[in-house]
Amino acid sequence: MLRFVYEALPARVLFRDGALEELPAELARLGSRALVLSTPEQRSLGERAAALLGVRAVGTFDQARMHVPIETARAACAEVRRLSADCCVAVGGGSTTGLAKAVALDLGLPILAVPTTYAGSEMTPIWGITEEGVKRTGRNVKVLPRSVLYDPLLTLSLSPGLSGTSGLNAIAHCVEALYSEAANPVISLVAEEGIRALSRSLPRVARDPTNVEARAEALYGAWLGGTVLGAVGMALHHKLCHVLGGTFDLPHAETHTIVLPHAVAYNAAAAPEAMRRIAAALGVEDPAQGLFELARSVGAPAALEDIGMKADAIDRAVELAAANPYYNPAPIRADGLRKLLRNAFEGRRPEP
Ligand code: NAD
Repeated sequence: MLRFVYEALPARVLFRDGALEELPAELARLGSRALVLSTPEQRSLGERAAALLGVRAVGTFDQARMHVPIETARAACAEVRRLSADCCVAVGGGSTTGLAKAVALDLGLPILAVPTTYAGSEMTPIWGITEEGVKRTGRNVKVLPRSVLYDPLLTLSLSPGLSGTSGLNAIAHCVEALYSEAANPVISLVAEEGIRALSRSLPRVARDPTNVEARAEALYGAWLGGTVLGAVGMALHHKLCHVLGGTFDLPHAETHTIVLPHAVAYNAAAAPEAMRRIAAALGVEDPAQGLFELARSVGAPAALEDIGMKADAIDRAVELAAANPYYNPAPIRADGLRKLLRNAFEGRRPEP
């Protein structure tokens, strides 16, 4: 029998090539003294955004880093206070959006996000802050960006490597939404469409990173991935990636890409309807094998060993991933997790 709860999050989304030009008009809805955030690598994009805003940009802060170190969050908050900023503009990937969220959590400033990867953080009320090597996360609607400008032209510079892995990160949100404890008909439709758009576009982006149409379809899929991540809880795959990223400092998008086919294989027998929908969206028979092959087709790494994990970390990861109970379609068992991680560590094909 159909039973579900559906709750929509408030979000304004403007999607078009060249959408960055809309920044001044969008900002006028939120504030008049913006602090523009970026990573050091995307400083020039931050400066371009500030130039577009003219006097409405009171400063730029280019120190965003992966997993939001608390020191960086405190430094950004100090800049906000010093400059009397009344909103943050986050131009960049999940790390930059994450920094804006940490500021919003502390000071309540509204966020205008201009995403340039496929991570999807801009559509979620999920924040994360890392202190002394431990990443705390939580949900709070005050960190949800009020306005999001999606401009496919800004993704043309995303390297082929990060394009593929960031896109598979977005697919991971869609996959786990389909077997989420809170799965509901609307979000499942969005998730299926997200997998379809990303699996079609990512190989085209890998072949030609300057293909604007493929870039637009991938960014569209990323929006859908972020939407489902913000709407329903995730499961084993996200838990494992959180443990691997947080404890062993593995890169976010690559870790998601490597683990996903194995997590899907682990859950396959326990979530047949979700598997049918994932396979249909990918256009394959077996969703775990299909995801493994999609990752190969975009040139992504296959083994956790190749992105910096050590073999003796597997036991600790199993221990952490099995420690606190959380929802997952298949029961969490240490022996199953060890096999999953061993296969992901060595870059083998997923096994049921
Ligand atoms: P990222 O933001 O760390 O970006 C990686 C690198 O690519 C950075 O140097 C960045 O400046 C650069 N970059 C980004 N876009 C670019 C572009 N278009 N052209 C050239 N360079 C570009 O990577 P990410 O994968 O987007 O984000 C990962 C972080 O986001 C992790 O900390 C993860 O936990 C978090 N995240 C949070 C949520 C959430 O809902 N809270 C969702 C997804 C990811």
